[in-house]
Amino acid sequence: MIIAIDGPAASGKSTTAKGVSHILGIPYLDTGAMYRAITHIVLTKKFNIDDPLELKTLLNGIQIRFEIIKDENCIFINNKNVSSLIRSSDVTSNVSAVSAIPEIRESMVGLQRKIGRENGCVIEGRDIGTVVFPNADFKFFLVADVKVRAERRLLDLEKIGETKSLNELMNEIEKRDLLDSSRDHSPLIKAKDAIEINTGLLTINEQIEQIVKHITNIQNNKGN
Ligand code: C5P
Repeated sequence: MIIAIDGPAASGKSTTAKGVSHILGIPYLDTGAMYRAITHIVLTKKFNIDDPLELKTLLNGIQIRFEIIKDENCIFINNKNVSSLIRSSDVTSNVSAVSAIPEIRESMVGLQRKIGRENGCVIEGRDIGTVVFPNADFKFFLVADVKVRAERRLLDLEKIGETKSLNELMNEIEKRDLLDSSRDHSPLIKAKDAIEINTGLLTINEQIEQIVKHITNIQNNKGN
C-alpha cells in the first residue's frame, strides 16, 4: 500500500507520516531527507551543479540508503550517517535550488519508487501524489498557517542548538514554499484527489488519527 503525504515546509508531514507508519505497520519514507542529503554533499564537496559534468559525477558517486537505528529513521550517504547534518540552516537555505534540478529529481524519484514498491510505504514530500506515485492508494495534503509552521521549525532548530527569530523563520518558510511551488519540474502542488488537512487546528495525535481513520474506513468498506 502506498500512502502519499504532501505539503509545504513544516506542515507536520514527518511527524504525521511517522505516526501513521507506526500504527499501520508500513515503512516510512522521508523524500525531503534525500534532497537534503544531496544538498549537504553539494555544499561540503563544493559541487557546481550548473556544470553538467560535475552534476553527473555527483549523481554517479552517491549511494543513498535508510537504516532504522534506535527507532530513528537514519539516512546514509556513501555509508556516512548524515541524519543530523541535513537539518542545518545551511542545507535548509539551499535545498530548494538543488531539488529544482531535473537530473537530481529524476534520480531521486527513481530511488523513491524502488524503495516504495518493495514493501509499500507512507511516503512524504512535495510531489508524491502528483509525480512519484500518482496512483497512490491514499493521498493527503497537509497545510498550516505560516506562523504555526515557523513555531514548529523554531523547536526543531533548538534541538540542534541553533537559534533564529520567528520572523526570520516565517520569511525563510515562505521563500522556500515559493521556490518549491514555482519550479518547472514537479512543483509543490496539491493532487486533485488528495484530502487536505489543516494541521494548525489539530494536535499531532488528531492528525494521525484522521488519516488512519480515513484509511481503515475505506478498507473496511471495500471488505464489506
Ligand atoms: O520536507 P523537507 O522540508 O525536509 O524538504 C526539504 C526540501 O526538499 C523542500 O523544501 C523541497 O525543496 C525538497 N523536496 C522536494 N520534493 C520532495 C521532497 C522535498 O523537492 N518530494
